[in-house]
Amino acid sequence: MKFKLKVVFTLLLIGIATTSFAQLNVISANNYDSLVKANPKLQLVPLKSDCIQQNIKYATADNFTKEIVYDTAAVYLSAQAHDALLKVINLLKPLNIGLIIYDAYRPYRYTVKFWDIIQDDQYVADPKKGSRHNRGCAVDVGLFSLKTGKPLEMPTAYDDFSENAWVSSKNRTNLQTKNVERLQKAMTDCGFQLFATEWWHFDYSGWQQYPIYDISFQELGK
Ligand SMILES: [Zn+2]
Repeated sequence: MKFKLKVVFTLLLIGIATTSFAQLNVISANNYDSLVKANPKLQLVPLKSDCIQQNIKYATADNFTKEIVYDTAAVYLSAQAHDALLKVINLLKPLNIGLIIYDAYRPYRYTVKFWDIIQDDQYVADPKKGSRHNRGCAVDVGLFSLKTGKPLEMPTAYDDFSENAWVSSKNRTNLQTKNVERLQKAMTDCGFQLFATEWWHFDYSGWQQYPIYDISFQELGK
């Protein structure tokens, strides 16, 4: 009997240890302020510029899930990624080009919601790992003309999951190639990395060092 109890107890301990190891360290509104005080680099900063168009598809039903996922449309990035994106905007401005922002920081609860809608990690991040968008270090962008306000032609529409959206795709016109290469050059010159299967998605270098946040846009805006 004693031996059995010992085995059960040991198994229980192993279970607890494995579970806590597998769990993500998610920063909530409760511990955000103290985190940022200790390390200002971890602040989520709203992006403001005359040279951006905010087109957050997940705050509308015009996205691949056909459902409104975000309750608010907002553009936040972690402080260093934010500053790097401002550099991109300043690089493109003399060319009369602005940035369309399709998505930036995504509260973790929406990664869970995406997973509830589509349980396929080809299209959405597995909540067990979280998304780079949850870290305030990923941004989905396109280009528009600062003269006309119209989007510049890119290889595909946003969130087109065909191979035509791959960075390596050759199935594109000269104009599409020119535009996407312009975007890629500006982003990589300012510290962002390409994402192989989505021309619009860029990760800020060093994203691994940032925590997963689950702070709503309303809480950030307070
Ligand atoms: Zn993305």
